[in-house]
Amino acid sequence: MWFRRDLRLADLPALHAAAADGTAVVPLFVVDPTFETAGAARRGFMCAALDALDESMDRALVYRHGHPVSVVSALAAEVGATEVHITADHGPYGQRRDAEVAAALAESGVRLVATGSNYAVAPGTVRKSDGSPYAVFTPFSRAWRAVGWAAPLPTPEVRWLGAPQVRCDGPPPAPGSGPAWPLSPGTESAAHDRWDHYLPDAVHYADRRDLPAVDGTSRLSAALRWGLVHPRQLLHQLGPERGHEVFASELAWRDFYADVLHRRPDSAWQNLDRRMDAMQVDTDAAARGRFELWTHGRTGYPIVDAGMRQLLATGWMHNRVRMLVASFLVKDLHLPWQWGARHFMQHLVDGDLASNQHGWQWAAGTGTDAAPYFRVFNPTTQALRFDPDGTYVRQWVPELAQVGGGMVHEMGLLRPADYPTPMVDHAVERNEALARYQHLRAGSR
Ligand code: FAD
Repeated sequence: MWFRRDLRLADLPALHAAAADGTAVVPLFVVDPTFETAGAARRGFMCAALDALDESMDRALVYRHGHPVSVVSALAAEVGATEVHITADHGPYGQRRDAEVAAALAESGVRLVATGSNYAVAPGTVRKSDGSPYAVFTPFSRAWRAVGWAAPLPTPEVRWLGAPQVRCDGPPPAPGSGPAWPLSPGTESAAHDRWDHYLPDAVHYADRRDLPAVDGTSRLSAALRWGLVHPRQLLHQLGPERGHEVFASELAWRDFYADVLHRRPDSAWQNLDRRMDAMQVDTDAAARGRFELWTHGRTGYPIVDAGMRQLLATGWMHNRVRMLVASFLVKDLHLPWQWGARHFMQHLVDGDLASNQHGWQWAAGTGTDAAPYFRVFNPTTQALRFDPDGTYVRQWVPELAQVGGGMVHEMGLLRPADYPTPMVDHAVERNEALARYQHLRAGSR
């Protein structure tokens, strides 16, 4: 059993397949050099998750270092495996890697067997009656529910054949230094504890999920990213209440974006809507300077700065604020969304190519949204609406700790000397963004 983004033992169909008929199972994790580039927060979470997985199988997990194509084949030969079991990976890199591994294994008559996915409904499954994919979320989510999911599986009895009989060729991956994830630790049991704690509040999800000062969301994104929990396990416990319905639809977004990336792997770094390629973006030295201010949370827009600082301090940012800082980068600073997406992937503990790149493309108006570019968030009115008493901003921007209530969002002359003045005028930049869009449309006529 080759573990990747499914670092758990409960409800793991691939493990059931591997352990069927009482066959001994060699648990493998490949420390792939490709992962060296991942940000510290994500890496740290993965290391904690691996350690907990290893512990839950009495330290049987076998670590092998190197490219999976050579590593997996060598181990299969070493232990005389006839099958290597995996949960299917639907990302661009994972798909390529698994095809290469399958080909290498086949040379010695070993099968790579994929069972299950990391999604409630596997990418590529939800299709219109004519077999074509859904381009828009709402009809996708209706069809997604109609396809549905099986009940979670129990944890199987497994006869592990692992370390120390099967040797590791190096240590577990090292976390590297980064912000300590302040929420639940990266273990399967902590993820379930968090869910049990959160579930009674899920009825309020629709009313609280947009308030960044409130602990109103599950904060399970990193656990879902690494498969400490499977979305099916969460969906199984949700009822018809409105809060639960809205929560389920967020899991549908997760599946939708994975589906889009699966059919359009190029959309990881290029506009999904290629007509937007002609949109003018700024990339000169001045643009880089503006980007630096944004990354450090020094734009002079308190809600944007609070979000960017929350990201640097904790590796996580509230969804509403992710939308605002992303819109600000694209529509107020006129920078390429890819710059922001890369920064997010470097710092997010839940950094996930499908959700992140398509979250960014949604904000940039280059993605799946039907009427996208005209939506330009006003950071001040959004802040007054979703952080009305300024609690969130004061938590992350200490220079503003003494500014009372919602005043913190529109301080004018009260702005403390050590807090930057707004780096751009939103009203001016909004017009600029819309003018660039008009120009693009005129050019394409
Ligand atoms: P909850 O509100 O409790 O939602 C439950 C789960 O549903 C989440 O854990 C997540 O798995 C899924 N989900 C919720 N909202 C979305 C969404 N809009 N798109 C896809 N899945 C969603 N999410 C990531 O997991 N990884 C990313 O790298 C990522 N990057 C983003 C970048 C931008 C610009 C934006 C706007 C959103 C991004 N999101 C990303 C989506 C969302 O912000 C996070 O999933 C959410 O904030 C995580 O907090 P939570 O677990 O408390 O979410």
